[in-house]
Amino acid sequence: MIDYEHGISAIDADLIRHGMASIHLLRAGDQAALVDCGTGHSLGNIRAALDCKGIAPGQLRYIILTHVHLDHASGAGAAMRAFPDARLVVHPRGARHMIDPSKLIAGATEVYGEQAMADMYGDILPVAADRVIETHDGFTLDFNGRTLAFIDTPGHAKHHHCIWDALSQSWFTGDTFGLAYPECTVDGRAFVFPTTSPVQFDPDALRASVGRLLARKPRAMYLTHYGRVTDVPALGRALLERIDAHVAIARAAAGTGGARKQVLVDALSAFLLDELDAHGCTLTREEALAVWGLDIELNAQGLAFWLDHATG
Ligand SMILES: [Zn+2]
Repeated sequence: MIDYEHGISAIDADLIRHGMASIHLLRAGDQAALVDCGTGHSLGNIRAALDCKGIAPGQLRYIILTHVHLDHASGAGAAMRAFPDARLVVHPRGARHMIDPSKLIAGATEVYGEQAMADMYGDILPVAADRVIETHDGFTLDFNGRTLAFIDTPGHAKHHHCIWDALSQSWFTGDTFGLAYPECTVDGRAFVFPTTSPVQFDPDALRASVGRLLARKPRAMYLTHYGRVTDVPALGRALLERIDAHVAIARAAAGTGGARKQVLVDALSAFLLDELDAHGCTLTREEALAVWGLDIELNAQGLAFWLDHATG
């Protein structure tokens, strides 16, 4: 667990490897909340973190999902059983998938395959509808006197909102502000790149959402992948440039027929490795690709889907 300021901590979600996905813990007086909750395998780490902080299960009042992709939300059903006084706070487009996760499971099984689904996510359990709070753009939650404000942030997913924490003047960004793994940080400077995973990547919407986040002049961003980043204006510029680069790579790969997926994977790998090198990172090519894991594959799949379905 990493402790930041303002009662914010990052708990490792135990997804694939340490440092892949985080769950943020927020405290307000004698209450606690989670932002994202990892997978069915994450509960042990959540319990250990609460124990370490002296927080009883009944003090956990909110489980807030940034969006319902499985690395963020598949553990929600199990966590809601473990924390009987918690409410689930979720985007209106995601709520029904938490109440009945069957479509979510079917969709993700198509992307990942059955074995990987079980290994990565465990059992995905439904959440009782009367424990779900749906947000809307401009929704605010009074978390024991700590105001959390939600904005709709499509682009990575249509069921994505980001959460503004007035106390720390920072955003919990889920996947909207991209991915920044600690291994790629050089002298305190994070390396951020977008996630364009299937099936709702929309570059125009993503640029607009990132713009809304930056407009608040946040002091920090808390990313699910992974933890707090600062120097937000510089990261925002890099992220927007890399979104444009992903789109350019996708457009260049259009018309490459059956080889398109591999063309995308190769071009994205080359682009990101060059960028990481220019960032000053000393990871070898193999080490960097291992840190990114499935991300490049998923970005390629999402860009291919976007090419096939984008209008105009
Ligand atoms: Zn996601």
